[in-house]
Amino acid sequence: TTVLAARELRKSFGRTQALRGADLSVGDGEILAVMGPSGSGKSTLLHCLGGVLRPDSGEVTFGEIRIDRLADRERSRLRRTSFGFVFQFGQLVPELPVVENIALPLLLEGRNRRSALAEAADWASRLGLDGLWDRLPVELSGGQAQLAAIGRALAARPRVVFADEPTGALDSVAADQVMELLADTVRGEDACMVIVTHEPRVAAYADRTAIVRDGRVVQPVRAR
Ligand code: ADP
Ligand code: ADP
Repeated sequence: TTVLAARELRKSFGRTQALRGADLSVGDGEILAVMGPSGSGKSTLLHCLGGVLRPDSGEVTFGEIRIDRLADRERSRLRRTSFGFVFQFGQLVPELPVVENIALPLLLEGRNRRSALAEAADWASRLGLDGLWDRLPVELSGGQAQLAAIGRALAARPRVVFADEPTGALDSVAADQVMELLADTVRGEDACMVIVTHEPRVAAYADRTAIVRDGRVVQPVRAR
């Protein structure tokens, strides 16, 4: 079944038409890679799917919900409760140790501190970050910081994970380790994931690959 679908998305920034009728759907449990040249509209597509940006026209549906029609407040609520985001540079809060960074979405949900931290510690273990709970982001390697950011993205058990060049700042060994853990964890959680990447070795972890060119998804979307 389809979890998330975009139809005929258009989005311009001034005179730049970033999306010109993009169509895409993501199935239950699926990992979908989005590839294409720089400037083709991949990030804009990801942001429209994730409710970060509102398209100028077209539809984004998440189950029964029309994301493009939601008011800003409802969209940000949906992002917080149902979506997780991983970016190229982990964007951890620099003042907080690993375990507290991972716990943030749980605390935002209103969970009490003790149980949020306990669950965050479990996530840290699952991601191979045992012994690093008390470290500050600056004391982590790039790969470790990215794993912590993944823990934070997954902690609230999102239905959909959005990743924009999650391995872009890593060497290939760290990139493989991060992708393996990210893909395994997403599959283990029965979530689905949309991952923007220009690296074929990252796309190899996906079930399907969509190619974006000039603001459109080139058909057909390739199955692995
Ligand atoms: P990609 O992710 O494939 O590199 P983007 O979606 O980031 O492509 O960008 C598509 C086009 O839209 C590019 O020409 C980019 O410069 C432009 N663009 C994206 N976001 C903005 C923005 N916030 N303001 C102005 N132009 C933007
Ligand atoms: P990516 O490497 O993912 O394509 P970009 O460098 O295109 O990232 O964009 C990073 C962020 O900056 C995005 O949020 C995008 O919307 C915004 N952006 C991209 N191009 C422009 C632009 N020309 N002017 C303003 N913001 C932009």
